[in-house]
Amino acid sequence: ADISWQFYQSYRRGLEQMKMIEKEAEAAKAALVVKSQFVSIVSHELRTPLTSIKGSIDLINSGRTGELSPKTRSLLDIAGRNSQRLALLIDDLLDLQKMESGEMSFRLEPLDLHETVRDAIESTTGFASKFGIHVETRLEAPGCRIMGDHDRLVQALQNLLSNAMKFSREGGTVTVTARTDGSRARVSVRDTGVGIPDGAEDRVFGKFTQVDSSEKRKVGGTGLGLNITKQIAERHNATIRYESKLGVGTVFFLEFESIADSRPVDDGAAPSR
Ligand code: ADP
Repeated sequence: ADISWQFYQSYRRGLEQMKMIEKEAEAAKAALVVKSQFVSIVSHELRTPLTSIKGSIDLINSGRTGELSPKTRSLLDIAGRNSQRLALLIDDLLDLQKMESGEMSFRLEPLDLHETVRDAIESTTGFASKFGIHVETRLEAPGCRIMGDHDRLVQALQNLLSNAMKFSREGGTVTVTARTDGSRARVSVRDTGVGIPDGAEDRVFGKFTQVDSSEKRKVGGTGLGLNITKQIAERHNATIRYESKLGVGTVFFLEFESIADSRPVDDGAAPSR
């Protein structure tokens, strides 16, 4: 009887512990929902007034509301740059929230690697000319395909490219390569910029974290871009890493499982070879 009493007691304790764990898990889930709703509401509520601010700035800048003195123009430039920064921050916050709450959907389909890389480069041409950066491409392994979400991959590559341009000196070169290595497809983005000191990996891929001090920056950033990029890579079973030397430059690698030509792809298209 003693043994069965002891057994009963430990069974009761186990049951209570299980209930407690369940309660904690529920509370954590509720907190996550609240957090995600909060970010989403705040981001949307910030976006609307910001659009109106930007619209007004553009209108004044156009000269249609009257002549601008040089002083007014330079103040307006500051307002414009800062509202642009705010817009980027809101976009990044929204993306992060969608990613973490699982709301960001990924539609994976067979993609041509070269095309995807070219689309990303094209989307950063404005950035490149603004910073006087020359972009070189070395695209090997034509016809290589990967499973991916086109828009998200372009976004990830865009982040790598814009960072490479942002952290380079004027007149610098950014080299983009694509090649295959066995069943892996690798895209690299190399710059001749400021470089990243050793041991800064957590800050590079962290949330809201930056390596350098903000005074040295040519353009602001949120410190979210590479965190989002890493999450996009993970959703593609891709790996992201970098090699860097201070004062010499940095290269970021994004590595995917490529679709072997012999493997049937489910888009109905015939294998390319
Ligand atoms: P940010 O909005 O600051 O660009 P990211 O998440 O994209 O945020 O990058 C985080 C930090 O990593 C940057 O602030 C910068 O310090 C460092 N970093 C990223 N890419 C490069 C690069 N190509 N060269 C030097 N530093 C870089």
